[in-house]
Amino acid sequence: MSSTTLPAARTLRHAFAWLRFLRSVWQRWFLWVLLAVLVLALLVTVVWLAGRHEVEQVQTALDRDTADAVSDLRSGLQRNAQSLRASQAGGLDREHWPVEAAALLREHREWLRLEWRDAALRPLAAVDTPYRRRVFDESTRSVDQPDVTLACAAARKLGAPAYSPSHYVPSVPSGGLEVMELCLPVDGGAGYLVATYSLRDTLIELVAPTLTRGQEVAFTEADGTRLVAVGAARRMGTRVFTSQQLIDLSGTTVMLRVDGWRAAPDLFPNLLTALVTAISIALVSVLVLLARDTRRRLRAERDLADALAFRKAMEDSVITGLRARDLQGRITYVNPAFCEMVGFSAEELLNHAGEAPYWPTELAHEYRRRQAARLTGGPPPREGFESVFMRKDGSRFPVLIFEAPLINAHGAQTGWMSASIDLSEQRRIEELSRASQERLQASARLATVGEMASLLSHELTQPLAAIASYASGSLNLLHGAGQVQQGGEYGEVAMAVRRIAEQADRAGQVIRSVHDFVRRRDRTREAVAPQALLDAVLPLVRLQARKLAVRVEVSFEERLPRVLCDRTLVEQVLLNLARNGMQAMDLPELSDRVLRLRASRARAVGEASDAGDKPDTRRWIEFSVADFGCGISEEVAARLFTPFFTTRPDGMGLGLSLCRTVVEQHGGALMFEPQAPRGTIFRFTLPAA
Ligand code: ADP
Repeated sequence: MSSTTLPAARTLRHAFAWLRFLRSVWQRWFLWVLLAVLVLALLVTVVWLAGRHEVEQVQTALDRDTADAVSDLRSGLQRNAQSLRASQAGGLDREHWPVEAAALLREHREWLRLEWRDAALRPLAAVDTPYRRRVFDESTRSVDQPDVTLACAAARKLGAPAYSPSHYVPSVPSGGLEVMELCLPVDGGAGYLVATYSLRDTLIELVAPTLTRGQEVAFTEADGTRLVAVGAARRMGTRVFTSQQLIDLSGTTVMLRVDGWRAAPDLFPNLLTALVTAISIALVSVLVLLARDTRRRLRAERDLADALAFRKAMEDSVITGLRARDLQGRITYVNPAFCEMVGFSAEELLNHAGEAPYWPTELAHEYRRRQAARLTGGPPPREGFESVFMRKDGSRFPVLIFEAPLINAHGAQTGWMSASIDLSEQRRIEELSRASQERLQASARLATVGEMASLLSHELTQPLAAIASYASGSLNLLHGAGQVQQGGEYGEVAMAVRRIAEQADRAGQVIRSVHDFVRRRDRTREAVAPQALLDAVLPLVRLQARKLAVRVEVSFEERLPRVLCDRTLVEQVLLNLARNGMQAMDLPELSDRVLRLRASRARAVGEASDAGDKPDTRRWIEFSVADFGCGISEEVAARLFTPFFTTRPDGMGLGLSLCRTVVEQHGGALMFEPQAPRGTIFRFTLPAA
């Protein structure tokens, strides 16, 4: 089933597609076809009308000629009849009449013969024209000649000249003639005068020669049979125009027919028609040109639409913001990328004179100046310039703008086209790379410092060992001399020497710790009472506190567990924090300078956890160092733990970064927060043993 329906469906589909195509072609060409048909119809009508007008004109002229010929003939015949009547005015006698008749015949070439007949129509005398050989002999002109009888009967009845119907006279040598008789009753009943007209000569003599020059004039019978004709013979390839008119003569009627010809009915019979035709041809040519032009235009339109679609797709796909402004600074165009960049819709941006909505308020003044300079001055830099735009939400972002003059089809500048690139992402990446660069440099310097520290610790070990041995040597000497037991000055000296030995020993430990720290050697951790840690640093803290007029307050929570730590390093951390706190209070206007050192159980657990995912069950001890100093501003806070960051002219900027490293190595955390009413609290946590 499907095998038969499928081809049928396909055929139907093809037919529909074909129909659709035809309809579109028809819709497109309908007007043109209509116009062409109308113009063609107009052309044909005009040519036809012009031709008809021409024919009518020719016909009218011919009719006029015919009427002229008829009137010529009538008046000629009348004149002839009068001449004949005049010839018998003085009475007729047989002697003189032939002479008179001969004279008349010489004057009237159209007459062939003049006869005088008696009342019974018997010929009394007859004279033939001198211009021809004799046509008639006496035997053919007898009494009972029917044409003469008819004419004379009519003449007698009317009492006036009358004519006979035309008749043919065969005359052997000249080929026969068509003739007509004129009968005139003689006054006093003395018979009749009969004149025989040669019809051909009548036409020649009585019709104006101008009429016979370009056309044929003929006598015809009622049925159209031509009797005689004079004038120009018909030329080949011509069109015949005919006009006929009846000449009513007393006794008979003859038909005069004039045939005129014009050059064949060609397409351009006269100037008017030729003109109309030429104009029509021009019209058709213009029409054809117009159609071709329209086709070209249609093609151009299609190409333009394609180009437009292409351009639109391109504009929509680019991520560069495009914006066009006219010479007054009004925005005339923005692409979707630009709208997205600044967060305003195209409607909000377009036709904005003066301040654009994406100008940051604080920079609007400068932008206005820049715009004014652009409108008056030369082209902007080809490599573009940086600027700042504002999004709809008020946030600012840097952009790179390239501007180019907008030139129209006539080569005149109509405004400016600018492409803007959002630089925020680029700036973020630059910032990131700068920060990592800085970190890299800091680590390099840190490594150098580590090397130096290691070198120093190595170099200092021997002088310290020497100090320690000199001190113990001195003590031994004092003891040996027995001076110590006696008290007094020697006892104090021995005390001082012992302190020297202790501090030298401590310095040696510090150096060893630093050395180990730098070398990242795992230090042995020991359980130390928090109080012991604070006690160890207090003498040194108090030494500096006295110098800076700071009161040191130390407090402990009851029954604190011991902490597991590298004792020397933690002591250094405490010392460092205490020193920073005291330095922060070294302000002339500050009268009450208190540094609070405290050890307590930690409320919050340290951030680092050795136990992985399992909850940290370790207990923590928190040490805090609080001062009432200048506090830490936001900028300083952001870089506080960065190595080499310091605000003090003699600072190294390593203290806090080292402190944090030490605390974090123990699994604890170092943090700080502002303290009321002023100053800062630094806290760090250490795991309890
Ligand atoms: P240094 O002491 O050599 O400057 P630190 O790393 O110890 O280096 O400190 C860095 C900076 O942190 C100091 O220069 C100081 O500005 C600031 N600072 C540290 N502790 C405090 C504090 N308790 N109060 C105010 N500022 C502090």
